[in-house]
Amino acid sequence: MTNINLDDYIRKVPDFPRKGILFFDITSILANPVAFRYCIDKMAEIYHDMRVDAIAAIEARGFLFAAPFAYKLGIPVIPIRKKGKLPGVTLSKKYDLEYAQAEIEVHSSDVPRGKRILLTDDLIATGGTLNAARALLLEGGAEVPEIFGIVALPFLNFKKILDPTPVTSLIEYQSE
Ligand code: AMP
Repeated sequence: MTNINLDDYIRKVPDFPRKGILFFDITSILANPVAFRYCIDKMAEIYHDMRVDAIAAIEARGFLFAAPFAYKLGIPVIPIRKKGKLPGVTLSKKYDLEYAQAEIEVHSSDVPRGKRILLTDDLIATGGTLNAARALLLEGGAEVPEIFGIVALPFLNFKKILDPTPVTSLIEYQSE
């Protein structure tokens, strides 16, 4: 694996999507095959010795990292989507955003009972979305031994809401 400084490949966009937010943009990782391969290879290295039966990922940027990881490990991908996108029978969960509510869904037949699912997203901010996603997977009878993000923002306190599930990332930013 070519060793890189991942920070060099993450575009920082101030005041997006609104004033005061520093947006960590991972499309600049996708645009660079060396950086993208580094992320997938690192994920495979981290989870090499842990039993992971499937990977679940959150729409839409989470899919981009979960799919190549699943391909590499030969395991299923479980898409977690915004309400109304999945055609089959779903489990769904409402959760609070700063000023509104959101709802995510998963096909109930995709959640393997008693299996160990690595839950992922591109970036972990408040952890609110991942917390709802974890609830969906647990409700479906699966285990969630770990949560993974390429980028993590611990100053937004996601550890508290995601406790007791361990959270791993490739890079952390300490403040905006
Ligand atoms: P969360 O607050 O952890 O529920 O984050 C929800 C989603 O918003 C995640 O999927 C992130 O991709 C995205 N997100 C939140 N904050 C940022 C940020 N500062 N930069 C980039 N993406 C963000």
